[in-house]
Amino acid sequence: MDLGGIHHVTAVSGHIAENVDFYTKTLGMRLVKKSVNQDDVSAYHLFYADKVGSPGTDMTFFDWPHIGTERRGTDSIVATAFRVKGSEALAYWKARFDELEVAHDGIETFDGRGVLRFEDPEGQRLLLVDDQGEAYEGEVWDGSDVSPEFAIRGFYAVMLSVINLEQMAPLFTQLLNFREARRSSDAAGREVVIYHIGAGGPGRELWVIVEPDKARAQLGAGGVHHVAFRVADDGEQQSWRNRLTEIGLPVSGFIDRYYFRSIYFRISNGILFEIATDGPGFTADEDLETLGEKLALPPFLEPQRERIEAGLKPIGA
Ligand code: ZN
Repeated sequence: MDLGGIHHVTAVSGHIAENVDFYTKTLGMRLVKKSVNQDDVSAYHLFYADKVGSPGTDMTFFDWPHIGTERRGTDSIVATAFRVKGSEALAYWKARFDELEVAHDGIETFDGRGVLRFEDPEGQRLLLVDDQGEAYEGEVWDGSDVSPEFAIRGFYAVMLSVINLEQMAPLFTQLLNFREARRSSDAAGREVVIYHIGAGGPGRELWVIVEPDKARAQLGAGGVHHVAFRVADDGEQQSWRNRLTEIGLPVSGFIDRYYFRSIYFRISNGILFEIATDGPGFTADEDLETLGEKLALPPFLEPQRERIEAGLKPIGA
């Protein structure tokens, strides 16, 4: 039983209007869903993805203006890598970042592929990875000024920092069925353990660095809250839940997120994982043509729409 790769990454923003501008305009992603935090309806929950909101392309943000900036450290999700097609795409993005004054480290090589490390305006650590033209199941968004041939095609990998690999490795390999593929040095000279989810490659890699001497990260704006992995349907999710609970790991119940169904579990104090179903997807409550244009509310909040809309700050998209 293998997970199907990365489903989505959920991160934190303290400046949601700028966040919208960066992910939709600078990165050219589609805002496929504009919703609210179900526990605090004065805050947005935004979802950026490809044109059709394919699983494996969706970066989401909690709008937490008062949380303060993330304190970077170990025991956390430290970077999110997106995929683009070919070295020409990386060159395009480097030039675009230069022009738009996006902080980046230039084109580097990691694990035999070109990569471009960069940050969003709040210090969210991101990379673009040359996927070398490998198959992509989704459809790129053609509604921004990014040339579709160079557009972001979902995730390549996420990177974790752990304190003790000997403790964590059995969780990755024996419990979650990831396979250690190889070890590679990144441009900063750190050893990165590359795990494959299923066959590995775009959307199916977990990169792990070991930092025993660093302080633990403290979540805040510019940080990642959790990463979700894909399952095809409720049956697979049930099987995974059984497997996790059998070894005594605390796992949440099944939570209906309307666009997918989710279970959550911590693999450490600081690292939260989720397993989410591919369906029903972002067209569950909106047409494909108009995804993300109006505020989407779960049915139980719909009666309060007017009050909720009045309490939200305007955002650009
Ligand atoms: Zn999630």
